[in-house]
Amino acid sequence: MAYKTRGSVALISVHGDPAVSIGCEEAGGQNVYVRQMGEALAERGWTVDMFTRKSHPDQLNVVKHQPGCRTIRLEAGPQTFVSRDRLFEYLPKFLSAFQTFQHQNGTIYPLIHTNYWLSAWVGLELKQSQAIRLLHNNHSLGAVKYRTVTTVPMIAKTRLQIEKQCLEQADCVIATSPQERDYLRSHVSTKGNIEVIPCGTDTQRFQHQNSTALRQKLGIRDETKLILYVGRFDPRKGIETLVRAVGNPEVQHHQNVKLIIVGGSRSGEKDSQEQNRIRAIVNELGLQDQVIFAGRIDHEHLSAYYTAADLCVVPSLYEPFGLVPIEAMACGTPVIASAVGGLKFTVVHGQTGLLVPPKAVDELAHAIDYLFSHPRELHIMGEAGRHRVTTQFSWPGVADQMDQLYLTQLHQLCNKFFPGQFVS
Ligand code: UDP
Repeated sequence: MAYKTRGSVALISVHGDPAVSIGCEEAGGQNVYVRQMGEALAERGWTVDMFTRKSHPDQLNVVKHQPGCRTIRLEAGPQTFVSRDRLFEYLPKFLSAFQTFQHQNGTIYPLIHTNYWLSAWVGLELKQSQAIRLLHNNHSLGAVKYRTVTTVPMIAKTRLQIEKQCLEQADCVIATSPQERDYLRSHVSTKGNIEVIPCGTDTQRFQHQNSTALRQKLGIRDETKLILYVGRFDPRKGIETLVRAVGNPEVQHHQNVKLIIVGGSRSGEKDSQEQNRIRAIVNELGLQDQVIFAGRIDHEHLSAYYTAADLCVVPSLYEPFGLVPIEAMACGTPVIASAVGGLKFTVVHGQTGLLVPPKAVDELAHAIDYLFSHPRELHIMGEAGRHRVTTQFSWPGVADQMDQLYLTQLHQLCNKFFPGQFVS
């Protein structure tokens, strides 16, 4: 479809570089979301510049993804990986680099769409100095996340303040699920404008294929009962709960059970502590022959894993949305997920998979045992999952909703400065 030229938008994602490889420490759903949203909006006629922090001297300053969509890396702090809990001090440099970029290119972005609280700070500062509409996605909420961790970082107070300020002052905060909207209202502020627009996935890339052929390609035997985990190594992802559930007698009484863990850097990067911890648990339980650490797999090759698996488990302690379940469901694979956050929205208990309490090893083992014992139900759930994703979470539908939101915001901005001349 041909769309008219819409306008310019800056998608700001300080720590989630949309042009890097996904699945390692700190590169996950936000990177995928920003990149896919940027590309889909460019296809709809927006000129999209995605701003992120340069984190390695070899990185290009500008990466062109497709006409009208590029990643721009700004210099702000050391050109090396800095964990998100330590990035706040470099934000003034990021802001000033962004303003310099605008100045040098003779551009002012009327729409600024920020991602995660660090970028929200940048957006709130810009709102004070130029006429913009500020839209924001949290991706993760401090108010919820800090309830699930044992050590709260020093930056927590600042983060909570900025998340509140952003909800109250941004023109629109985009919640990716009704659950996130409710959390925002109950845990952050009763003020501010919230729209619910879910995350999407590419249902062409993620679709059911011939699983026998894919299993052969991946070296997985037909009789294997295959459980899949995909995601980063981060304690909040709950991989420990899954490994312990696999070691539970309820799962072990099935023959040929294997767990593939996809994700994580291959060596020496920042997630090695959690990787080593999980490997130690696998050894402690004597599961070395049953657990395969596949490492990071390119996004475009993941559908083979989802399709080959009998079920995908998302054992997170907290998950604002979670792309992995919708990718798995798009491939026709049922999902067992923790009953937290956006997972309660994407996974329909009893229809597209099962929901279990977080950190509950026995309940998770029971759910795995149940689905392995009921192959017909497993199959029906797989089909229902694919249907749910194609009807609710495919990128074209999701991007159309964002396109409409941007248009409305742009009209409101124009009406503010030229009252009565624009009709929304
Ligand atoms: N991912 C990937 N390769 C990997 C591991 C993960 O491409 O080896 C992708 C995965 O397909 C998903 C994203 O990383 O799109 C993780 O997003 P999710 O929202 O599930 O979790 P987050 O990382 O945001 O916590």
